[in-house]
Amino acid sequence: MTRTAVALDRADLHASLADPALLSMTFLNEIAGRFPEAVSFAPGRPTEDFFDPSDLHRHLDTYIRHLTADKGYDAAGVRRELFQYGRTKGVVHELIARHLERDEGIVCDPEAVLVTVGAQEALWLVLRALKAGPRDVVLALDPTYVGLTGAARLLDLPVRSVPEGPRGVRPEQVRERIREVRAAGERPRALYLVPDFSNPSGHSLDTGTRRELLEVAEQEDVLLLEDNPYGYFRVADGSRPPTLKALDTGQRVVYLGSLSKTCFPGARVGFAVADQRVTGAGGPALLADELARAKSMLTVNTPPVAQALVGGMLLEHGGSLLEANRRQIDVYRRNLRALLQGLQRRFARMPGIRWIAPEGGFFVVLDVPFPVTDALVEEAAVRHGVLFTPMRHFSDQERAGRQLRLSCSSLDPARIEDGLDRLAALIDERGAAPHA
Ligand code: PMP
Repeated sequence: MTRTAVALDRADLHASLADPALLSMTFLNEIAGRFPEAVSFAPGRPTEDFFDPSDLHRHLDTYIRHLTADKGYDAAGVRRELFQYGRTKGVVHELIARHLERDEGIVCDPEAVLVTVGAQEALWLVLRALKAGPRDVVLALDPTYVGLTGAARLLDLPVRSVPEGPRGVRPEQVRERIREVRAAGERPRALYLVPDFSNPSGHSLDTGTRRELLEVAEQEDVLLLEDNPYGYFRVADGSRPPTLKALDTGQRVVYLGSLSKTCFPGARVGFAVADQRVTGAGGPALLADELARAKSMLTVNTPPVAQALVGGMLLEHGGSLLEANRRQIDVYRRNLRALLQGLQRRFARMPGIRWIAPEGGFFVVLDVPFPVTDALVEEAAVRHGVLFTPMRHFSDQERAGRQLRLSCSSLDPARIEDGLDRLAALIDERGAAPHA
């Protein structure tokens, strides 16, 4: 008997699956693959210049030596650690805590570190935990990284945006927005932000703003979700502003760490530092332990093999990701300088084209005098061989409809020059015949 193949109506699936926010991540990750010849300013990927498969073997060996020499594991213990299911909160938590102390001045109990499948899982778990009821909402600086918006959609957690101005956000604006949201009957639980070279805006907060934000968070009783994948990639030498977490004396900050840019995204390892005390029925615990309960039903544990690889990499650099990234930092500096100089040379005097030079990171946002849509990206790829990301993916603000994000991390100066020529050709074409 032949049976009719089942067809599921999208209307019977969770509404988030049809939400544009959930299409963004795949669009951004895959568009470069569809146009391999194009110069791609689209994805915020790390440079591939230093990836070498032989490093993976060495990292693994380094980690195994650490297990035997430093931790006293016997052969069976090593086998179990690498091949078996592992501790829910992860196995490289001590190494991560050591890195945070060394590189960031963040002193935390390794028990407060939850190792996750990318920062994305950490973000999802934190949002899951914070959404206790229908009035709960999360605040996010707008433009916002799509990973936050998408995770919130999956959880039916509304995101209330705090629009950034051209130079970032003021803490008083955050306070006003929190109060506005409360006045509307909602309960703001946390503010999500990327304080260092944000994706997508490129903005960074100065130390004074960080301190004020912590004060606002305390006075208004919300948490800060600090996402920091780009903090090491500063153009200038010299000191970096401290992370919010390093300034946090009242456990206001849940720190979200990603090793995608500082190790490699193929490992899919990230983490949360969730040192908040949890009280009430069930006895005292750390927020990290509550998140671990949710994780045990999501990914069970972060693959120990992946943790061993990043663990080995950390160990080879004395526990410091800053040390591990010396060459990469130089590449990103060189690329960002090339991008900014190239923009200056081509567009400095062109009406309607504007940008703000970030002090580091991967991204520059360009204002242009025409709408920037996914269809325009396709057209730019086909006709001019250049790719970028419409800011529409990150913001509903009107201004975002005429902005594009350029990422320079995985290019080199010659490709950046070539890409900017191609972009200039597109802009010329559009400028001459603007589309409504
Ligand atoms: N947060 C932000 C703001 C990012 O831009 C990225 C990378 N696209 C991440 C987190 C990385 O997440 P993951 O560790 O899951 O790769």
